[in-house]
Amino acid sequence: MSEGLAQAAYIVAVLFFIMSLAGLSKQKSAQAGNYYGIAGMSIALIVTVFGPDSQGLAWIIIAMVIGGGIGIYYAKRVEMTEMPELIAVLHSFVGLAAVFVGFNSLFAPPEMGLINPSGMDAENVIHLVEICIGVFIGAVTFSGSVIAFCKLRGIISSSALKIRHKHKLNLAAIVVSSMLLIHFVEVDGSIVALIVMTLIAFAFGAHLVASIGGADMPVVISMLNSYSGWAAASAGFMLASDLLIVTGALVGSSGAILSYIMCKAMNRSFISVITGGFGQPSFVSGDIEESGYHEVTAEKVAEMLKESHSVVITPGYGMAVARAQYPVQEITEKLRAKGVNVRFGIHPVAGRLPGHMNVLLAEAKIPYDIVLEMAEINDDFSTTDTVLVIGANDTVNPSAIDDPNSPIAGMPVLEVWNAKNVIVFKRSMNTGYAGIQNPLFFKDNTSMLFGDAKVSISAIAKAI
Ligand code: NDP
Repeated sequence: MSEGLAQAAYIVAVLFFIMSLAGLSKQKSAQAGNYYGIAGMSIALIVTVFGPDSQGLAWIIIAMVIGGGIGIYYAKRVEMTEMPELIAVLHSFVGLAAVFVGFNSLFAPPEMGLINPSGMDAENVIHLVEICIGVFIGAVTFSGSVIAFCKLRGIISSSALKIRHKHKLNLAAIVVSSMLLIHFVEVDGSIVALIVMTLIAFAFGAHLVASIGGADMPVVISMLNSYSGWAAASAGFMLASDLLIVTGALVGSSGAILSYIMCKAMNRSFISVITGGFGQPSFVSGDIEESGYHEVTAEKVAEMLKESHSVVITPGYGMAVARAQYPVQEITEKLRAKGVNVRFGIHPVAGRLPGHMNVLLAEAKIPYDIVLEMAEINDDFSTTDTVLVIGANDTVNPSAIDDPNSPIAGMPVLEVWNAKNVIVFKRSMNTGYAGIQNPLFFKDNTSMLFGDAKVSISAIAKAI
């Protein structure tokens, strides 16, 4: 394959990636977006593997078969609720790959032309700076993603790590890393400086993510998505690969835009979140008076629903765990057939993944036009007869509005308590992801239906 043909194919691949991102931004075109992404990646892989610069084809194919095999094995087994963890793991791989590419291009034999052995010309300096920055971003992405994985899987607590002088430590890590970069370039690629900087970057990334608590994790995930893009772009600079630079920049910038949108939706400062909670007050959650709660049966809820004119369903992480979207679709259909106005209210961070609830509802073939965003439905709760809170907790917590000391203070929430009746489906009085109690459960117009959401909703569907 000629160099010109390879470059032309890369441009086509990049166009597919752009079309993929555009497709993924809307539910209706998301599937097409995925296909464009697959097409772009297939072209990119084929041209890279069989292209003019490729060497050691057998090794590449062995690595691809092993890596692809592991990928297919896990992708087939992963539950929808474990998707964010899988994504965190994949981000960590991108980060680690950038670290390896950095070290590798330092050790690369002179005939590869990455480093000029005859000394410090401008190109060498630029390449050494690229190595340092690439390794730094890669190491931060790797360790940050590993901590995000541990938090999502519950291996470590989801609450924010609070160590004294944490912002000063972060600043010191950046200053020392910058000094090491200068030293690295001055002595023409000191391996010791690079290793020390890598270790500092690992600690910095882990600390940055560990410092961000419970309800802000969605932003951390999209931020790590962005970092993984920049890590890939920096690997592209080190390898002089235009395709990797453009693709990495697309992922990096789209991840940054998503993080910004999520920060706005959650009323959080973007700068504060990306700097590990800088400028955030330390919250102390006030004690909630648990003055008793009411319980209700599935049959009673079925009666209540049949008598309602307007019903809003607000799903959360528990619906995903229980895979209750199918019986939810069944009751939606039955109630709509009886003339009840059924709609869904989706909080931007419900579940464990941006768009998590939309994907589940689409999977169960619930019509898009009755699935509304939080901002579209929040004013309608006061005229709603019954709200079904299915496995949601933090996203319907009134403390976000009423308690300035709450860790979720200021985060917009679904104001379900304004409805006539609220039914909460969960298995116990346990807290949600942010680890804080929810005063909604103790309100007079709220009733709890304990049990697995799928079992409870199926019982209601049967009773209807
Ligand atoms: P929460 O995580 O706050 O609460 C989920 C609730 O579901 C729990 O209270 C749990 O209670 C209940 N539950 C679990 N399993 C079942 C089951 N089988 N049947 C019935 N109920 C069940 O959910 P939300 O969706 O309201 O909030 C999402 C939280 O996750 C937010 O804090 C958000 O910031 C965070 N997050 C979101 C991400 C995103 O991108 N969307 C990413 C990472 C974190 P019980 O155990 O009693 O059953």
